[in-house]
Amino acid sequence: MRGLDRRREPVSVTVTPLMPQQIRDAIARGKQQEVRTIRQFLIASAVVQAAFAALFFVWGGPGTGYLIIVALLTLPLYAIALLWLKRGYAVGAGVMAVSLPIGPLVAYTAAFSVDASVHLLLFIFAVGLFVLVPNDKPQVRLYLALGIFAAFVLCETFFTSERAWATLNQDFMPTFAAINRTNTAAGIILLGVLLHRRMEYSRHILEGAARHGELLATTDELTGLTNRRPIIAQLEQFEADGMSDYAIVLMDIDHFKTVNDEYGHSCGDMMIRHVGFHLREHFRESDMASRWGGDEFLVLMPNIPRRSLVPVLERLRSSIASMAVPCSDHVHHVTVSIGAAHGIAGETADECIAAADHALYRAKEEGRDRVVAVGTSDR
Ligand code: GH3
Ligand code: MG
Repeated sequence: MRGLDRRREPVSVTVTPLMPQQIRDAIARGKQQEVRTIRQFLIASAVVQAAFAALFFVWGGPGTGYLIIVALLTLPLYAIALLWLKRGYAVGAGVMAVSLPIGPLVAYTAAFSVDASVHLLLFIFAVGLFVLVPNDKPQVRLYLALGIFAAFVLCETFFTSERAWATLNQDFMPTFAAINRTNTAAGIILLGVLLHRRMEYSRHILEGAARHGELLATTDELTGLTNRRPIIAQLEQFEADGMSDYAIVLMDIDHFKTVNDEYGHSCGDMMIRHVGFHLREHFRESDMASRWGGDEFLVLMPNIPRRSLVPVLERLRSSIASMAVPCSDHVHHVTVSIGAAHGIAGETADECIAAADHALYRAKEEGRDRVVAVGTSDR
């Protein structure tokens, strides 16, 4: 369509727009959820270390005494991390949640060898760091990831079964290894679900913010009607589909400048707002009423039967004429002039708008407060 703005991108109307305050609230809720996740992770890790200590105590063979001490020593460190978290140091607590278990897991692997599969648990923390350490600390994430990988390589390289110096009683080692593998799988799946939920939450915020931006860009602030953009997009679509069964209605407030000059701009604004509200009430859902600019409005009416157009517009004109617009201590009465044209097959939307504009010009020329609709034969 010549001369019309083509920049509008289609945005799904099913997305709920999020106002700036709602976006801020959603981000704050997300941050609280992150803190809760770190707390749960720290508590779960402490419980696992306590379980290791209990397991080594019950099934421990020679050499496991040291490992009980290592496992128990982590508990006060987890308590410190939880305290940090409570004081608001979420980054520090997150880093501790990821780094604390590395040493003990390497120590257990050194004792039992890689056959115990304890070192596989390192993967939980390699994935967990994307949940526990915030996005804005990419360097910290990188160092932690490298540290965990180095620990894993160290285990695989040096802690072979011949070098094991501790063992578990009653042939418990295969079960212990199976528990570690199962826990690794469960931990990674759980973190995958958590990451997915975080991504969905971020997507919800982003789409809501984008929809809000889209609404801002397509809504006239004063009246709440659409501005030109959605109308232009719809007309472009009609043109692309070869659809010409629509009418374009242009409506302009009569002698509006006088209102502005005599009563001030805010009074003029009030009048535009009232006329806009009236338009919204008057038309069908499928019609698109817009503020075209200044005191001019454009309504796009798809599938309007030719014989109904003028009666519909006459009703609109007379109901606006009987409307009272209160402004401070006085009440205004307003009239409008309306020009309308039907789309014609083979004609562009620009040509249809020009025809409606010409009809509006005639309505003004003929004395205002009237409807002029141009037929096919007039063009
Ligand atoms: P006519 O009957 O020929 O339409 O005469 P008019 O005085 O209404 O003339 P016109 O339609 O050209 O006047 C438009 C005026 O609307 C000019 C401008 O100062 C005023 N205007 C444009 N936008 C706004 C607005 O957002 N608020 C107010 N208060 N005035 C506006
Ligand atoms: Mg006017």
